[in-house]
Amino acid sequence: MTGWPLVEDAPDTADLAKCVHCGLCVNACPTYAITGLEVESPRGRIHLARAVAEDRIPLTEAVQGHWELCLQCRACEAVCPSGVPYGRIMERARAQLDAAPPAKGWQRRLRRFALRNVVARPRVLAAMLTPVRWFARSPLRGLVRASGVLRLAGPLGRLEAQLGRPGRPFRPREAAGEGNVALFTGCVMGELFGDVHRASIRVLERSGANVFAPRGQGCCGALSAHDGDLEQARRLARANIAAFEESGGEAIVVNSAGCGAAMKEYGELLAEDAEFVERAEAMAARVVDFSEYLAGRDLPAGRLRARVAYQDACHLAHAQGISAEPRALLGAVEGCELVETEGADMCCGAAGIYSLIQPAMSGELRARKAAQFREHRPDVIVTANPGCQMQYEAAVREAGIEARVLHLAEALDEAQGGESSPA
Ligand code: SF4
Ligand code: SF4
Repeated sequence: MTGWPLVEDAPDTADLAKCVHCGLCVNACPTYAITGLEVESPRGRIHLARAVAEDRIPLTEAVQGHWELCLQCRACEAVCPSGVPYGRIMERARAQLDAAPPAKGWQRRLRRFALRNVVARPRVLAAMLTPVRWFARSPLRGLVRASGVLRLAGPLGRLEAQLGRPGRPFRPREAAGEGNVALFTGCVMGELFGDVHRASIRVLERSGANVFAPRGQGCCGALSAHDGDLEQARRLARANIAAFEESGGEAIVVNSAGCGAAMKEYGELLAEDAEFVERAEAMAARVVDFSEYLAGRDLPAGRLRARVAYQDACHLAHAQGISAEPRALLGAVEGCELVETEGADMCCGAAGIYSLIQPAMSGELRARKAAQFREHRPDVIVTANPGCQMQYEAAVREAGIEARVLHLAEALDEAQGGESSPA
C-alpha cells in the first residue's frame, strides 16, 4: 500500500529504508540550525516521507510546508554515514506535491509555467532579462532604491537587492567552433553572468584548453527537478545530451555548481528511459566543474592583493564533493589572503528560486553570512554559482561593507590580467 499520488516518480522505498535515524545529519542542516525543529531537519523530513509512503499519514499542507522549507542543499547527504540519497528523495517527494498539491496550487502552477515557458526558452528568457540588465546599469536604479518603493515590491524588491551589475549576455554563438573543452552556458547564467563565461574561457585557455560553446544546449533542468517537475527536467536533459553528443569535446566544463551537479546525475534522472540511459551516463562522465578541470593543470599564478573569503556553493561542496580545489586555485594566487569565515560551507539561502518563495528562511541564512562578512571584512567574496553570487550581493549590502562579489573564474582571470592578458 502506498500513499503517493504519483507512483511512478515516488521516493524509492529502498532509499527511504536506508535512513537509520541516527541524527548525524541534523546539525549540518541549515533549516534545523535556524528553527531547532525536528520536522525541519533531514531526519524529520525523511520520517514524514516514510509515513506518507506507508499510508500512515496523508499528504497534508503541513507536510508540504516542511518539505518546501528544505533548501535541497544536500549538506545532510554529504555527512550521512548510511548513504541516504536525500536529494533524490526530496526531488521525488516534491514530484508528489506537483501531482497533488495540498495547498498553494496557484503558486506552484505559476512556478511551473515560468520554469517551462520562460527559463527553459532561450529567446523568451533573453527578452525578459534584457530590460532587467538595462535597469541594473541605469541611473534609474539609484533613484528607485532611494525612493524606498522596493521595500513594498515583495519578490521584485528582493530580486533587485540581489542584482549586481550584469555585463553583456553570452550566447553560444560567441564561442562557436570546435575544441577539446565544451563550455556549458546554461539559461540565466548566460543572460546575467555573461562576463563569468568570458572569464572562464580565458582562464581555461591559459591552462592549455581549446574552448568552444556548443549550439543547441540549454537549461540543465535542475530548477525544474528541484521543484518536482521531473518530466520537464528529463526533457531538458535529453536536449542537452543530443547537443553535446553532436558537438564532441572530451570534457564539458560547467561553471555553475547547481547545473554541474544536475548534469552529473543525468544517468539517474533518465534511468528508466531505455533510449537515453546509456547516452545520459556517457554525457555525465564528461561533465566537470570549472575548478575540477583546472586542478592539477598549469596556470599562470597571477596576482591579486586582497583578503578573499571563499564561500562554498552547496551543489559544489555537498553534491559534487568539491571544496579543496577552488581554495587551492585561489591559494596559488600571489597576494591572495584566504579568509575562512564560519559557516562558509553552509547554504546562503539562495538555493535556486528559494529566496523568492521562502524569503524569511532565506533572509535568516543571508543574515548569518552578512554577520560573518561584517566581522572578517574581506575585500572579495568568491563563490562558484550564480544564485549564490546574487545572494552575496544582497549580503554585502546588508553587512554595510565594500566587498566585491566574484565568481571563481572572474577572480582567477583578474589575477591573471583579465581581458588584456593573452590566453
Ligand atoms: S539521513 Fe543519514 S545521517 Fe540522517 S538520520 Fe538518516 S541515516 Fe542518519
Ligand atoms: S537538503 Fe539541506 S535544508 Fe534540506 S534537509 Fe538536507 S541539510 Fe536540511
